[in-house]
Amino acid sequence: MKKNTNYQNLEENYLFKEIGDRANAFLAAHPGQPILRMGVGDVTRPLPAVIVQAMQQAAGELGQADTFRGYCLEEGYDWLRQCIIEHDFAPKGIQLELSEVFIGEGAGSDLGNLSELFSSDNRVAILDPSYPAYADASIMAGRPVIWLPCHAENGFVPELPKQKADIIYLCFPNNPTGTVLTHAQLAEWVKYARANGSIIIFDAAYEAYITQPDIPHSIYEIEGAKEVAVEVRSFSKSAGFTSVRCGYTVVPKETGLQAMWLRRQCTKYNGTSYISQRAALATYTQEGHAGIRANLDFYLGTAHLIRQRLQEMGYEAYGGVNAPYIWCHAPHGWDSWTFFDHLLNECRVLCTPGVGFGQSGEGYVRFSAFSKREDCEEALSRMKERI
Ligand code: PLP
Repeated sequence: MKKNTNYQNLEENYLFKEIGDRANAFLAAHPGQPILRMGVGDVTRPLPAVIVQAMQQAAGELGQADTFRGYCLEEGYDWLRQCIIEHDFAPKGIQLELSEVFIGEGAGSDLGNLSELFSSDNRVAILDPSYPAYADASIMAGRPVIWLPCHAENGFVPELPKQKADIIYLCFPNNPTGTVLTHAQLAEWVKYARANGSIIIFDAAYEAYITQPDIPHSIYEIEGAKEVAVEVRSFSKSAGFTSVRCGYTVVPKETGLQAMWLRRQCTKYNGTSYISQRAALATYTQEGHAGIRANLDFYLGTAHLIRQRLQEMGYEAYGGVNAPYIWCHAPHGWDSWTFFDHLLNECRVLCTPGVGFGQSGEGYVRFSAFSKREDCEEALSRMKERI
């Protein structure tokens, strides 16, 4: 046996461990002083009742002989795929076939697994900073990475790669910067991919947080995108499904990848649980939609509060309008970890150091609007007094 030595090229995944270690050291040194957590990138609000009931009902069906089910189709139940097409794409004028929508257990696994469809010598363009899964999956597969720096000077909008990129991971609304692209900006990427024979893997995990009217929700709103883009979506952050697990990936036939992805899923994936798919279906009911919209609006309200208060205090703060994340520049020329330590030690506030998302994140921290509203209010007051 020979190990995959590409794993040796991965950055040590120390970010969340290091955050945990520093928080624990603080708590040990200051017993009885709780920490206000503003770093968490995970949803916190409970699921709407109609979604819980859908899961209960689905579980009940599995306990009855006449409604019991075994494996579902690897690509998901038709009733969910049809509902997705009708609600998420048709109103935007995007026509998709059932066979182009693949239900999965969430975006994380598909984002990595999709890379199996491409030759190992393909070059991958990845935003810096970004959600770490794109780089990790590419490095595990031994692919060279082209980093696309996103900083305040370019408005956190990446420039087109100078070298030819074969695979391009785009994530908008962006985690961690909260940036979105306009139709014109996204059209530039589609044009690039068409001219260079590249494929765009478009991560739309935060699509539901878009509040501005002129921002594309799907890459297929751009003409010609169906030939060059795969879109990955998730119910995790839109409906609070981080533990339920359900998402979907659109692989249009025009990409030439649909049959390959179907083959891959049939071989390596035996389908998303019936209970999760029923829960996902319930998000499209009137009551389900209203419930998840109320949660999204709550998070967006917290995001607005964080961004506004930071800006009032004189911080350079970005995002938080079309995303649940606020990207905040450290004061006094501090690096990410120095700001993190000041927030922890002076204010008992936990954030995520920006450098953990890539080198261009140095000098920033990410605040999350998934945090408790009262914790955010208290944290911001302490920052005003103490930093
Ligand atoms: N994409 C982005 C940008 C994320 O931030 C996350 C999770 O935080 C995911 C994908 C993965 O989400 P899930 O696997 O829960 O669908």
